[in-house]
Amino acid sequence: MSKGRHSRDGARVSSYRKEGVEHVLMTPSANVITIMLTQEQQLFSSIKDTISMVDKNDDLAKLSLLTEDILLEHLKHRYDKNLIYTYLGDILVAVNPFQETNLYTTQIRDFYRYSTDIQKPPHVYALVDLVYRNVCHGIYKQQCCVISGESGSGKTESTKLFLKQLMYLCGGSSQLEQQILQATPLLESFGNAQTVMNNNSSRFGKYIALKFINGKVVGAQISDYLLEKSRVVIQSPGERNFHIFYYLFDYLPLETKQILCLRTKHDYKYLLTNPSLDVQNTTAMNSLDEVINAMSLLNFTDKEQHSMFRILSGILTIGNLEFSIDDEGFTQQTSDEEKAKKNLSIISNMFGVNSDLIMECLTTMTTLTRNERVIRKFSLQSSQDARDALSKHLYARLFSWLIGKINETLNNPYPSQSYHHVVEIGLLDIYGFEHFELNSFEQLCINLANEQIQFFFNQHIFRMEMTEYENEGIIAERLTFTDNQTLLELFMAKPLGILSLLDDESRLPKATDQTFVEKLNYRFGSNKHECYSINRNNKYSFTIHHYAGKVSYCALGFLEKNRDTLSDSVVDMFKNSRDDLIRLLFHGNPSDGSIDSNKGVGVMLQHRTAAEKDARNRLTVGAQYRNSLQILMDRMCASHPVFMRCLKPNQQKQAYLFDDPFVRAQLRYCGMLETTRIRKEGYSVRLSFEEFIQKYGLLSKARPSNVPSITCRYILEETHLTEWQLGKTKVFLKYYHPENLEKLMNKYR
Ligand code: ADP
Ligand code: MG
Repeated sequence: MSKGRHSRDGARVSSYRKEGVEHVLMTPSANVITIMLTQEQQLFSSIKDTISMVDKNDDLAKLSLLTEDILLEHLKHRYDKNLIYTYLGDILVAVNPFQETNLYTTQIRDFYRYSTDIQKPPHVYALVDLVYRNVCHGIYKQQCCVISGESGSGKTESTKLFLKQLMYLCGGSSQLEQQILQATPLLESFGNAQTVMNNNSSRFGKYIALKFINGKVVGAQISDYLLEKSRVVIQSPGERNFHIFYYLFDYLPLETKQILCLRTKHDYKYLLTNPSLDVQNTTAMNSLDEVINAMSLLNFTDKEQHSMFRILSGILTIGNLEFSIDDEGFTQQTSDEEKAKKNLSIISNMFGVNSDLIMECLTTMTTLTRNERVIRKFSLQSSQDARDALSKHLYARLFSWLIGKINETLNNPYPSQSYHHVVEIGLLDIYGFEHFELNSFEQLCINLANEQIQFFFNQHIFRMEMTEYENEGIIAERLTFTDNQTLLELFMAKPLGILSLLDDESRLPKATDQTFVEKLNYRFGSNKHECYSINRNNKYSFTIHHYAGKVSYCALGFLEKNRDTLSDSVVDMFKNSRDDLIRLLFHGNPSDGSIDSNKGVGVMLQHRTAAEKDARNRLTVGAQYRNSLQILMDRMCASHPVFMRCLKPNQQKQAYLFDDPFVRAQLRYCGMLETTRIRKEGYSVRLSFEEFIQKYGLLSKARPSNVPSITCRYILEETHLTEWQLGKTKVFLKYYHPENLEKLMNKYR
C-alpha cells in the first residue's frame, strides 16, 4: 500500500511496505525539479564532451540480442571512445583507462550529485548517488557495494573514488569524513606493493562498513582479510616489498634515519630480491608525509609512530642476520662476528630486547619437561625460518594493530537511542582470482574468497533476470542457476572439507605436506569430487576446478602456513620488550618491564605456560579465514548489493590498448557471461512491441488491431513459431528465433 505525504521542501514523499520493510520514495515537487533540471542541464552541457550524452548502449542488458561477442564488441567500442563505464543491467562495468582522465572533476562530481530521476550516463558516481539516495531515504538498512576484478583492474581506485564521492555527498568537511578518507593512504602504504600485475597492488582484502544517521556519516569500521605477510621476507621476480619500507629511505630526514640506524635500501636483504627494480610510476602512490599526516589525523601518537618506525627498521635489520653451522651441522652465530654484533645491537635497540636472547631464540629451542630443560640446536634452515617467521609475524601484528587503532578512531559511539536509525553501506575491495605458475596456500585462500563472491554474484544475476520476467509477466521455467556450491563445500565442509582436513593434518605431529595431499587424493580423487583432480606426476600437487578455470596448487609449506606458529621463546621475548607497542602487539603486560637475566628463567617459565595455552586455543590460519569469510558472507547476504566489475584492458598496464582475448577471458571468469548464458536459456532476444512490428510487420498483412501487443501476437501466431512469449512491453524470443524469422522474411523480400 502506498501512502503519500510532503516533505518540507515540497518533495512528495511516498512509502510502501514490502517484505515488512518500509520503503520510502521521494519525488521532488515540480518547482524543485525545475530548478534542479536547469542546474543539471547547465552542468550537463559543460561536461557532455567528457561523459557523452546518455546513449542506448549505456546499458548492454537493454540490447535486443546479447551474446559474448556483442558484449565484448560494445565494451571495446565504448572504451575506444573513452567511455570506460557501461551498465549491464544494474551491474556497473568499468574498464581501467590506465591514464589520468577528466572523469572526476568537481563539475562531474556535482553533476552526479543531483538525485533526480533523469537517467545519467554510467559512472561510479552514479552508483554512489544511488546508494546514498537509498541511505537518505532509508530504503535499505544495509547495502553493500561489491567491487571485483583481477589484480590491476581498478578495484582499489574505484573504491577510493566511491568513498571520496560518498563523503562529498554527505558534506565532506567533518573531521570523521576526513579521517575515513585518510585511512586509505595509511593502509595502502603498509598493505600495498608493486607487483607484476599492478604497481600499487593491495596485498590484503578489505571491507569498509560506513554507518549513517539521517544522511550523515557517524562511524566506520574496516575489516581486513589475509595480509600477504610472506612479502616482508621474499618477493617474486619483478616485485617489491610493501611500500612503507621504501618510504623510510626516500622520505625520512637524515637525522631520523640515523636514530633508526637505517643505512641505504640497498643494504637490506629483504629489499634486495629484485635489486634493479625501480618504482614504476603510478598515480596512486602516496608519500611518507601523507602517511604521517594521516596517522596524526587518525590519533596515532608521536610515540606510537616512532615505535612503528623502529619496528620497521628492526625487521629490515633482522633480515640481514646470517647464520653459519658448526662442525655438527647446527647453527651458531654468523662467521662475520663483527657484523653480526652490530646488527644484533641495532635489533636489540629497535625491539627493546636483549641481543643474546634474540640469537638464542633464533638458533635453539628449549623444551621444558617436568624436571628437565632440554635445549635443542637448530639446523641452518630452521634458524633462517625462525628469523623470517619472526619478521612476518611482527609485520602482520603491526598491520592488525594499525587497523584496530584506525577503527578505534572511526568507530564513534553514537547515542544508543539512535541505533534504530543507523543504516550501513559496506564497500568490498578484495583481491581478485589468482592463477600463477606456482600457487600456494595464499592463492588457495584468495581463490576461495573469490568463489564465495562469485556465488553471491551469480545469485544476484539470476535474481535480476527473474525480476525482469516478473515485471513483464513472463513465465520462465527452464532457467537454471549455475552455482559453485559443490566447490564451496569441497573447501568449507566440516569435517571433511579441504580446510578441515588441513587443520587435522596441522595438528598431527607426524603429518607432512605430502600426507595432506595423500588424504585429499584419497577423499576427493579418482572422480569422487567433480571439482578435484589428482596430479599423478607430483606428490605435493593437487588441482581444483574453480569457476574461473583449473588451478594446480603446490602443497609445500601448507601445514606450516596454516599453523603459522611463532616459537614460544620469541613470543616471550617480545612480551618482555621494553617497547610499549611491541609488548602490546604480543599482548604482554606493559608492567612486566625489562628482562632481568637472573629472573629470566622464572619469567620465561610463567610465560611459556601462558603461551602454551595460547597455542592450544589458537585457531589455524585456515580456520580463522573461514570464519572471517563466513562473517563477511552473512553480512553481504543481509545487505542489498550493488556490483561493480572492473576489467583490465591489457596486461601491459597501457592506455588505449584493448586486448580482446584478454578481456574476453575476464568476462568469462568474472561471471558476466553468466548473464548471457541465463539469457540464452531464457529469452535472449527482447524487442519492444514497436521494434518487433517495424522489423517483422511484413510477415502478416492483416492488422486486426491497433494495439501493439495484439498485433505482435497476431504476427507471431501467423509464423507458427513456438516458445516465444509476450511481456507487458516486449516480445521475448529464444536465441534461435531471429534466424527463423529472417528465413520467413526472405519470402517477402
Ligand atoms: P586493483 O585494486 O584492481 O588491483 P588498482 O585499483 O590498484 O587495481 O588499479 C591499478 C592501476 O590502474 C592504478 O594504480 C591506476 O594507475 C590505474 N587506474 C585504475 N583505475 C583507474 C581510473 N579510474 N582512472 C585512472 N587510472 C586508473
Ligand atoms: Mg587493489
